[in-house]
Amino acid sequence: MSDREIPPGPRSPVPRPRRIGILGGTLDPIHCGHLAAAVAARDAFGLAVVLVLPSRIPPHRAVQPLASPFHRFAMAALAVSGLPGLAASDDELRLEGPSYTADTLDRLRARGYAPSQIYFITGADAFADIATWKRYPEVLQLANFVVVSRPGHSIDALSSLLPDLAGRMRKGGADGASGENPLIFLLQAGTPEVSSTIIRGRLRRGEGITGLVPALVETHVIQHSLYQADQLHGQDR
Ligand code: ATP
Ligand code: MG
Repeated sequence: MSDREIPPGPRSPVPRPRRIGILGGTLDPIHCGHLAAAVAARDAFGLAVVLVLPSRIPPHRAVQPLASPFHRFAMAALAVSGLPGLAASDDELRLEGPSYTADTLDRLRARGYAPSQIYFITGADAFADIATWKRYPEVLQLANFVVVSRPGHSIDALSSLLPDLAGRMRKGGADGASGENPLIFLLQAGTPEVSSTIIRGRLRRGEGITGLVPALVETHVIQHSLYQADQLHGQDR
């Protein structure tokens, strides 16, 4: 039988990645710390894809991103360019209203992902506030959480900071198998000491940001004069 004569197989739906990661945040701007956290989680848990997801902050919120949603998405897309398994997602930016993790995870579920297939990535600083998140503690049932160490924010402190959750915490990537019940994985990673606040401050003072963000993001920031002193408002003023 020649190649041409091989009968087509049974029709199957487009295969979904088995494990998907999400790294959300204001990403104002995205930087090398975000990417290091995403890559560490991708590698530790064999994630087929990590979606980098800028969040939507509605206009009435006190703390506003400096860069528009359009620029924040553009920078996310430039940042992941060439990084295998990472992709920028406009899922939260396309919706009206604030972005809540629980709602984002609901939408992933509606697209066919079981909670045990979803790995929601946060830094240790962000996870320490989990009790203030919308639909806590239910949100923890909607995905595995991967809590990545961040300079100045150790993962070792989390079980005493959040004693109610200590029983669900697991150190390291393990094999990432969580069965049906999502878990909280604590991942030690050497992410760089950088924050969006530091970057905005450097740009406000006219200082460079080489090495703190991917080169394409640096070019974008300069080309569009983002984060200049005359654009500042809110917390960075
Ligand atoms: P800002 O200074 O404006 O708060 P940020 O650098 O903390 O910015 P966010 O957009 O707030 O960035 O963070 C998005 C997510 O990425 C959070 O879960 C945060 O903890 C995580 N994250 C940010 N920087 C790092 C880093 N250097 N290492 C590990 N995780 C990080
Ligand atoms: Mg932050």
